[in-house]
Amino acid sequence: MTHTFKGGVHPNYMKAPQVPVSVVAPPAQVIIPMAQHIGAPCKPLVAKGDYVKMGQKVGENPAPVSAPVHASVSGTVVAVEPRPHPLGDMVMSVVIENDFQDTPCEDLAPLTEEQLKDPDAILERMREAGVVGMGGAMFPTAFKVRGGIGKVDKLIINGAECEPYLNGDHLTMLNFPEQLLKGIELVRIASGVEKAYYGIEVNKQDAIDLLNSLHPEKYGIEICPEAVKYPQGGEKMQIKAITGREVKPGGLPAGVGANVVSTRTCYAVYQACYEGKPVIERIVTVAGSALDGPHNALTRVGTPFGYLAEQCGGFVKTPKKIVLGGPMMGICATSFDAPTIKGTAGVLFFTEEEDRMVDDPHCIRCGKCITVCPMNLEPVFMYMYYSKGDYANLEKYHVNDCFECGSCSFNCPARMPLTHAFKTAKLMLQAKAAKEKAEAEAKAAKEAQK
Ligand code: SF4
Ligand code: SF4
Repeated sequence: MTHTFKGGVHPNYMKAPQVPVSVVAPPAQVIIPMAQHIGAPCKPLVAKGDYVKMGQKVGENPAPVSAPVHASVSGTVVAVEPRPHPLGDMVMSVVIENDFQDTPCEDLAPLTEEQLKDPDAILERMREAGVVGMGGAMFPTAFKVRGGIGKVDKLIINGAECEPYLNGDHLTMLNFPEQLLKGIELVRIASGVEKAYYGIEVNKQDAIDLLNSLHPEKYGIEICPEAVKYPQGGEKMQIKAITGREVKPGGLPAGVGANVVSTRTCYAVYQACYEGKPVIERIVTVAGSALDGPHNALTRVGTPFGYLAEQCGGFVKTPKKIVLGGPMMGICATSFDAPTIKGTAGVLFFTEEEDRMVDDPHCIRCGKCITVCPMNLEPVFMYMYYSKGDYANLEKYHVNDCFECGSCSFNCPARMPLTHAFKTAKLMLQAKAAKEKAEAEAKAAKEAQK
């Protein structure tokens, strides 16, 4: 039986897991941004001129929702200053001149046999090694798992990798199956649950067979084959597909007793606990029509996009757009100088051939956007209210439940910029709520002075 959810679309997957993982030579300089996670940004722990070892912690913040960052090469710190960030803006970064020695830092020893069974030791190690949601969400994993203890009875591991182009999870399953199962087991132990459910789309049947051959039940894991459909890897879709439980509008997975952790995150937990290795590299799928073919590139965190493209054969056509992640939910980067971070699963260089924008699009009221929305929303009406600036109806139509999966835009024959509109609408509602809160507080303060 394959598990799935209602709605969704079938984009051309454009995947190339048959392309073996290549190791990208680390660049002469790496740029380590202090913000590579949701939550409080790190503060630099090093200064210009300092020597750092590979894996050394170079930034941290004691706030509960944060994750330290580490040097991905050994060498000398040549700058601590704002640099272009992959998600936009300038962000404080530690720039390291690579000495090409990869001298390791040994601050994190592998956990002992006893510690590998101790939830607190595993959680502490997740935090120290800077493990975050490496499917792209970048939420600090230790905080997420700890927050679910006692509330979560269903731990789901996300192996759908439903975004077109991306192959990193699939290749991790094929190349490191036993390590991956051990990493999932660690997350399961830390979560305090008996069993983890590993949802994998059946277009990765080779990985499903390989993992099943290693007796996942020994690790407290059940492999759950899933239908091939986008966005199968969405958190709420995974929960629905595997448990049948529905996260209510505005609700969180823990509210229905579920937590979802990505494949690559579990592998990072394995490396942190068994090898004492912090998050300093990952498989990045580098693809798109501006290149001569796809690459599955093991890349150090902090590698600039321009350098990464050069290492993958350079451009054969002029790139118009850099997309980080997959084309459905990915974010456009604005600078070739910005670096890969922990959450960078893909860097896609597209030419203008892939540009789906049309001038002055008009809705033809076909309803195709409604049929595919996995959140049961009505994009056509949400767009209408967005165009009118009608906040009340935007809220009434639950625009805040849109997780910007892009299915409606993908399925729209008129090429209406639906997802972009909903992203903007949510920001508008947030700004409105913040303004109203500030006004109410100012009014209350004035009343109190009377
Ligand atoms: S409205 Fe939002 S959640 Fe629904 S299909 Fe469109 S982008 Fe996805
Ligand atoms: S799919 Fe596009 S054209 Fe059709 S109703 Fe939705 S917004 Fe309008």
